[in-house]
Amino acid sequence: MNTNKRNDKRILTSLISLGSDKISIKIKILSSIIGVYRCAVLSLSKYASVVFFIILLSCNIIERDITTNVLFQNRKLIILSIDGFPGYYNASDSKFKDLTPNLNKLASRSHFSNSVDSTYPTLTYPAHTSMLTGTDPVQHGITYNSPIDPFRKYLSGWMWYDEDIQVKTILDFANEKGLKTASLYWPVTVGANIDFNIPQYWRSKTDEDEKLLKAISTKNLYKELKKDTGLSVLETTGDKEKIETAISLWELKKPDVFLIYTTDLDSVHHEKGVYSLAAEEKLKKIDSLLGKLIRKIDLYDNPNLGLIVVSDHGFKEVKSVCAPNKILLSMGAIDTKDSKWKYFFKTLGGIAILLENKDKDALSANLDIEDLKNRISTECPFALLDTEEELKQIKTKLNKSAKGILHSKANMAFSESLSITDIYREMSYYNHGFLPTDMEMKTIGLVYPKTNPIKIQNLKDTFDASCAWMNLKCQKGTSRNK
Ligand SMILES: [Zn+2]
Repeated sequence: MNTNKRNDKRILTSLISLGSDKISIKIKILSSIIGVYRCAVLSLSKYASVVFFIILLSCNIIERDITTNVLFQNRKLIILSIDGFPGYYNASDSKFKDLTPNLNKLASRSHFSNSVDSTYPTLTYPAHTSMLTGTDPVQHGITYNSPIDPFRKYLSGWMWYDEDIQVKTILDFANEKGLKTASLYWPVTVGANIDFNIPQYWRSKTDEDEKLLKAISTKNLYKELKKDTGLSVLETTGDKEKIETAISLWELKKPDVFLIYTTDLDSVHHEKGVYSLAAEEKLKKIDSLLGKLIRKIDLYDNPNLGLIVVSDHGFKEVKSVCAPNKILLSMGAIDTKDSKWKYFFKTLGGIAILLENKDKDALSANLDIEDLKNRISTECPFALLDTEEELKQIKTKLNKSAKGILHSKANMAFSESLSITDIYREMSYYNHGFLPTDMEMKTIGLVYPKTNPIKIQNLKDTFDASCAWMNLKCQKGTSRNK
């Protein structure tokens, strides 16, 4: 907090307990007295009328500034992400709509949409980073869940690290204002400048990861919260552990801006599918945890507290899989023996991006795009290689140097695998990563209370809604100047 803000705070200490209208009136009187006094002194000057006007103007600005600071200085914000919540679950004719009474009650008091556009691509890490930055993946730098790694040298690592985000996040702007920040398992927060942080991270997906998570979280935080709740926050534990620990963090640390991330709904959709019995159980459980969170934070009786509930993407049934890198392998664009490549499809569920390796030690190979197109249409009947129209979208939103985009015309997904036996095979499961224009990829977004002027229609609006509620001076797309 800077000196001016501290002074404002001292001056207004006696006024804070009053309502905002009374504060405003009292400040106006105070400003007028100061203004008249200054004007009396300055009336001796031959430039008095000019100076008098400037002072009146400055008094007005000071008055507005002080009033605004009083209104916003006690505000707090929680952003809760429920990963993998399809917008169609909340449609009026959905059989799951009545399973979420707490969400529905909250939605009735909020700006709510169940047709929120996800990012391009509709993947977890790009989407969550767009929520925090208000920008597309091409600008914030988290373009995929995992780095480009054709030969799996990174041991299935994900883009966990805050240092890869190229532009300022809501948390950066909150930090600049001197606010207290916290995050519970939010994606891409390893190493982030957050006052109280337990990031999402895993390696073995066993209990052994707990030591690692303790080490990369804010010093002693994991231990302190576990002592309070008796629960472990891990990739192998669920939403109950995450929400209960979040409540503990909220009560013990009282953050101003707090991010909370839950994973169970996404996991059950990948494993059992949408509208499954298992998904029904998870949804009811998540809603009950949301109800508990709302009660514990006293949301409906705290006018200074804002809540944003958002998800990152929907889900779609997959009926077949295409492995396009097997075609590149047969065309000599990838060499598994020497672990070198010239062209590679980075697959993202329902789309695959054709990348060219321009490194000095890249494999030397030419690619006949027409030949590639023909082979793909022969091998994968539902795939379409687009090097023109769709590519323009990809270049502006995802990857400036993409050579082409392969997308699914039906319920087919892409596999990045080089070792898979068949280029194409029928297979049934649920996934995301299809085009954001696909209705099944739409998700939910909710802003409480309605006095927040921003509604979420695209996940990027989460940034604007947060900045508006907390009165942060956010400049979307500001470089972090690393
Ligand atoms: Zn997700």
